[in-house]
Amino acid sequence: MSLEKTEGLVIRQADFSESSRVVTFFTREFGKVAVIAKGAKRLKSSFEVALDLLTTCGIVFIRKSSSALDILTEAKLQQRFKPRSGDLRSLYCGYFVAELLDGLSEEYDPHPHLYDEAQATLTAFAADGPLELGLLRFELIVLREIGQLPNFHECVVCGELAVADLSFDFKVSQGGLVCRECQGEQSYASPDRIQAGSLAVLHCLESETESAWQRLVPSPIQFKEIRSAVTAAISHALGHRPRMLNFLKF
Ligand SMILES: [Zn+2]
Repeated sequence: MSLEKTEGLVIRQADFSESSRVVTFFTREFGKVAVIAKGAKRLKSSFEVALDLLTTCGIVFIRKSSSALDILTEAKLQQRFKPRSGDLRSLYCGYFVAELLDGLSEEYDPHPHLYDEAQATLTAFAADGPLELGLLRFELIVLREIGQLPNFHECVVCGELAVADLSFDFKVSQGGLVCRECQGEQSYASPDRIQAGSLAVLHCLESETESAWQRLVPSPIQFKEIRSAVTAAISHALGHRPRMLNFLKF
């Protein structure tokens, strides 16, 4: 047993008993941590803050050495996620970030870069950052952090580089692009086809450069192809289609 202190974002919560909740934090130092917040459901709870989804708190918790749940002893509000007023989509985009962090990270597996990117993404969603592109970029960051970013740069079979004029399909089960030659005949009118222009947008989104992607204006077809490839990769990693996509209807 040890006493730990860190900063964390609430990514899930569930009732545990009449008065207590299990709250899952994505923390900067420890990765995902699930703690019992005793008395959190009482009107006058022992915590200074309502532990709502996407709230960032400074927390202190007792880390159990056994498989027992850790116990939250202190939570101090640092920041609340405030979606844009009158725009439910910014709220849903925030919830999508929580769903991805919860579904794709492991307990006590820290990813400080991902933590910082999650906070920056939520800040942009609350302000006037682009929602669809911001979410796509965050999904690509998550995939890279967990080692499941598909290869969007070359054919995973023969290594042919994805340059203009060549046709590629995106095959999530094979880990990335497959050129027409390696696909064989049946790829002629493939639903997995991804155009060179869409790949160029993807390359910009997945690059570490901070601001270039914010100036991207993909065409509706490019956006559809990119969303379809990224959703396939995320669903593959999660083992199911993300629930929040049903609300977002991209
Ligand atoms: Zn090939």
